[in-house]
Amino acid sequence: MNVYKRQNITFSRGKGSYLYDKQGKKYLDFVAGIAVNALGHCHPIISETINKQSEKLIHISNLYYSEEQNKLAKLLVEISDHSSVFFSNSGTEAVECGLKIAKKYKAEGSKIISFKNSFHGRSLGSLSVTAQDKYQEGFGVDTRDVIYCDFNNLESVKSIMGHDVAAIIVEPIQGEGGIIPGENEFLKGLKDLSNEYDALLIFDEIQCGIGRTGDFFAYKSFGVIPDVVCLAKGLGGGLPIGATLVNKRADILSYGDHGSTFGGNPLVASVAKEVIKKVNGPKFLESVHTSAKYLMDQLQILKKSCNHINEIRGKGLMLGIEMTTCPINIMSLALDQQLLIVAAGKNTIRLVPPLNVSEYEIDLFIEKFKETLMKVEV
Ligand SMILES: *Cc1c(COP(=O)(O)O)cnc(C)c1O
Repeated sequence: MNVYKRQNITFSRGKGSYLYDKQGKKYLDFVAGIAVNALGHCHPIISETINKQSEKLIHISNLYYSEEQNKLAKLLVEISDHSSVFFSNSGTEAVECGLKIAKKYKAEGSKIISFKNSFHGRSLGSLSVTAQDKYQEGFGVDTRDVIYCDFNNLESVKSIMGHDVAAIIVEPIQGEGGIIPGENEFLKGLKDLSNEYDALLIFDEIQCGIGRTGDFFAYKSFGVIPDVVCLAKGLGGGLPIGATLVNKRADILSYGDHGSTFGGNPLVASVAKEVIKKVNGPKFLESVHTSAKYLMDQLQILKKSCNHINEIRGKGLMLGIEMTTCPINIMSLALDQQLLIVAAGKNTIRLVPPLNVSEYEIDLFIEKFKETLMKVEV
């Protein structure tokens, strides 16, 4: 179906931070499958795990246990502040599970608060909390039980907060909306309000989780522990998986309430476990901090010599470069420099490179991006 506006390029191979087209032409990839390839393309750990597991067991459904899913669940619970997890196949489904928990948590007709400019997915449920006209328009989305508040504006939540609110769902860093980090006080305030009114706090960490911010979970970077954490994107290192983590309070779905045929199958679970072990392992997150600081410093230097750049935002290796006006065809200009970047929001270039990007690759990015900007007409 004609639902994507793709760049006119076909890739056939990838390694680390690079993709290669059919002719073998090499592209520096600062999109990483939209924050999915946390370890870059075809990391040996991932390829080897897929190979090994594919000869052992691939899929059995959730009628039975598998060692791989058990181990993954145990690991997630060990490294988080949560006690149970549900596995699905995408971010949208991770959110959908969170929304069903919210619906069950309080009486029918109770409200869910989400934030303007958010993105939580495109199923009819997740779309109802994705507060952007461009995604909702034309689909008769049922928003009767949803209240949209202003992101980073605690007053806008306080003014409508009540005991009829079952949950607040928020991205700690708005991703698709333009890389807009939540303020600590705002997120802490949401936590306090959710406690005061016995509502669940749901963090959508689908884009900003799995090491992106320099902590394994984004919530740790903000010092706020939510009741529910939605994960996907980077978790499978390129294989499709979603996970919804809950604490005791939110652990209310029971037999028959929810399910997934593929969710957490042995193949994807074995890979996700290795991704977590690597990202949460020795020195990895420190290196994310170091790379993030280096990239930010280089971007700030670039900004001084470039009047197209308005602001640089973000946390860790999830950065947004806001341009002074809408940068027309900047992605295809970057492609001419053999550089892959992706936009977010109205006028922001989003940088979500592999988490193991090297200093050399950051220098190369700056070089290529500088060339791109010189050709931009804004
Ligand atoms: C990508 C994304 C989703 C949707 O994930 P899919 O895997 O595309 O279904 C939901 N929330 C956030 C914050 C995302 O970035």
